[in-house]
Order: sequence, then structure tokens, then C-alpha cells
Amino acid sequence: MNLRTLLIKRMYIFVLCMSLCMAQFILLPSYAAYADEDDDDDDDDDDKSSDSSSEINEIKRQIEESKAAKEKANQTKSTLASGMASVQQVIGSLQKEKNDVVTYVATLDAAMEQIQDDLDAINESISENEIQLDDARQSLEEAEDALEEAEQTREEEYENIKDQVKFMYLASKSTFLEILVTSQSVSDLLNRTHYISKILDYDREKLDEYAAAVDSANEAREAMEESKAVLEEKQTELEEKQSEAQDKKDDMSDLISAKETEINLYSAEIGSKEEQVREYQAMIAQQDAEIAAIEQAIKQQQAALAEANRRQYGGGQFVWPAPGYTRISDDYGMRNHPTLGVEMMHNGVDMAAPSGSPIKAAADGTVIAASYSSTMGNYIMIDHGSDIITVYMHASSLNVSAGQEVSAGDRIGSVGSTGRSTGPHLHFGVRENGSYVNPWKYLK
Ligand SMILES: [Zn+2]
Repeated sequence: MNLRTLLIKRMYIFVLCMSLCMAQFILLPSYAAYADEDDDDDDDDDDKSSDSSSEINEIKRQIEESKAAKEKANQTKSTLASGMASVQQVIGSLQKEKNDVVTYVATLDAAMEQIQDDLDAINESISENEIQLDDARQSLEEAEDALEEAEQTREEEYENIKDQVKFMYLASKSTFLEILVTSQSVSDLLNRTHYISKILDYDREKLDEYAAAVDSANEAREAMEESKAVLEEKQTELEEKQSEAQDKKDDMSDLISAKETEINLYSAEIGSKEEQVREYQAMIAQQDAEIAAIEQAIKQQQAALAEANRRQYGGGQFVWPAPGYTRISDDYGMRNHPTLGVEMMHNGVDMAAPSGSPIKAAADGTVIAASYSSTMGNYIMIDHGSDIITVYMHASSLNVSAGQEVSAGDRIGSVGSTGRSTGPHLHFGVRENGSYVNPWKYLK
């Protein structure tokens, strides 16, 4: 029972071990190697790749140039954009100032309307007053005519009375005597003298009447004169008001037209700033077009670079990756597994070399892996273009990292015995289009 369990356990371990070993063989065989020194030729040549690498360098230079040009165009664009923004800010403040003046002019217009209304009212009053004044002047004229007429009438009557009194005086001497002599009685005498005095009374009454008429005509004329004077005074006052209002209107009109000139200046300034903005916009559009063109160029250059990289490896010999150590401890191909005793594929060349001796890049390329695995140990993979990849295993240390560009002959690590290895050696493999091929195709 106990022995059986032990056997089963051992079987299990063996199978596990086998499968692990098989996996190692199938995936990344790297068996054996014993560190033997074996000095030999070491050869570096990368003539074949120099053409394509100079082309790649040229394309890379162009890409750098394009990127710098794009950066510069972007800077120019942002300079333009900030210039435009500051002009737009100026426009904003000009617009605000202009609006303030426009608002002010609106209040001036309202004030102007009020002034005009006042002026219209004054003008209307003046017209009305002028009509009244005309009437008053006419009435005064009529009153003066009436006065003149009354005075003339009175004058005539006065002259008439004077004539009569004169006549009577001259006549009186004989007349009174005659009346005395010829009167037939006292009563007759009295009657005859009374008659004379009656005539005189009548004339005096008439004279008084005419004098009163002159007085009243004069009063009427004076009243007329007074009302005309009142109207004339009113006219003078109105005309003063009119001239004041007119002055106000003129001042307001001057102010409004000054402010309108200001508005026009603002408009012109805003117009020219807007023209500047349009220029900026055109220049920014031009920069955008330039940037787009540069981006297009970069795209094409990158495509050209990808194309150049793709065909980078044009064949030719590799640099010997373990310089100075040419003894092959295990070659590429089918071989008998050292411990399992089965025929298996060894997919690389094992170069026996002492631990710490340099591992060199076989050709120019990009490091696509620089890592550790339990089977490969510290390993490196380099992409050389044209779907050619070289693999270096069991290193004691690594000098490169993924993404790094390397040139043929660059030291990329040191020989060691990490991973599934029985002693210090470099396992060197070559993959073409995803499969391992015989490295001797590229090695001398
Ligand atoms: Zn190997």
C-alpha cells in the first residue's frame, strides 16, 4: 500500500516533469551547454542595412522636422488666438462705451423734444399775442381818430361860440339899448334878454358836451394805449423766452451732434477692430490648414517610416552575438534529448561562453522584449523588420529594455545560465514570420 502510493506519486512527478520539459522543448528549447572557451573570429558588418537605416534616419529627421513645424504652427495659432481675444475684448469695451453714449443721446433726444415742445408753445403764444396786439393797435388807431374828431368838433363849436360872443358884444351896445327902447313892456324886455341868454346857454351846453366827448375819447385812447403797452411788454417777454429756448435748443443740438460724432467714431473704431478680428480669423484658419497639412505630412512620413522599417532587414549576415565564443555546444535541429532520450527539435544555436561575457545585438532593430521567464531565464527579443526577430536566452543580466532601439553589435546583456539551463551559454534563436528558422542562415 505504502509502496504503491509512493510509486504513483513518483509517476505523477515524472509525468509532470516530462510535460514541463516537453513544453520547454516545444516552446523555447534551450538545452545543455557547457562553458568552454573557444576563441575565434568575430565579425561585425552592417553594410547591408546602412542604406535602409540612413533612409529611416532621414524619415525620422523629417518627422521630427514636421513635428517641430506643427508645434511652431500651434504656437503661432495660439499667439493669434490670444491676439484676437484681446482685440475682441477691446471691441467689447468699445461697444459698451458706445452704448453708454447712445443711451445718453437718447436722454438728450428726450430733453430736446421737451425743449422743442416748450419752444412751440412759446411760438404759439407769440402768434396769439401778435394777433391781440394787432387788434389793440387798430383799436388804438380808431380811438385816436375818434379823439381827433371830437377835438375838431369841440374846436369848431368853440370857434362858433367865440364868433357869437364877439357878435353879441359888438351888437350888444345898440341891441340892449334898442331892446330897452323898443320893448313894449318889462315882461317883453325880460323875455327878449332871456332869449339872448338862452342862446348863450345852449352854446355853452354844446361846448361842454363836446368837451366831455373829447375827454371820453381821450380816456378810451389812453386805455387802448395801456392795453397795447401790456401786450407789447408781454410780447417782449415772450420773445426773450423764445430766444432762451432757441439758445437751449441750439446748445442741445450741438451736444447731440457732438455725441453723434462720438458714436460714429466708436462705430468706425469697432468696424476696424472687427476687420482685425476677421484678419485674425483668416490667419488662424490659415494656421489650421497648415497644421492639417503638417499632420497629413506626418501621417505620410510615419507610413513611409513604417514601410522603411518593414523592409529594414534586407538579408545579409548577423553580428556574432557571443563575440569570441564560437564553440557550439548544441546546434539547431532535431537532436536527442539529453535526459529524456527522445528526438526533439532544438530551435536555436547554443554558444558556449563564460558567464558575464557580452551578448551583442545581431542586427539593428527594436527591443520588443527584455524580461524573465522560468524557462528562458533573462531573455531579449529584437525586431529587425521584415518579420525577422532574434532571441537571446539565459542571460545573467540585461542591458536593454523593451522599446529601445539598438544597433548591430550593441551590448544588450551578459551570458549566464538563468532559466532552464545546465551551464553558462547563449541560446541564440531566429524567428521569421512567426516561426523559428535555422540561425545559420544569418551566421557565418
Ligand atoms: Zn538552446
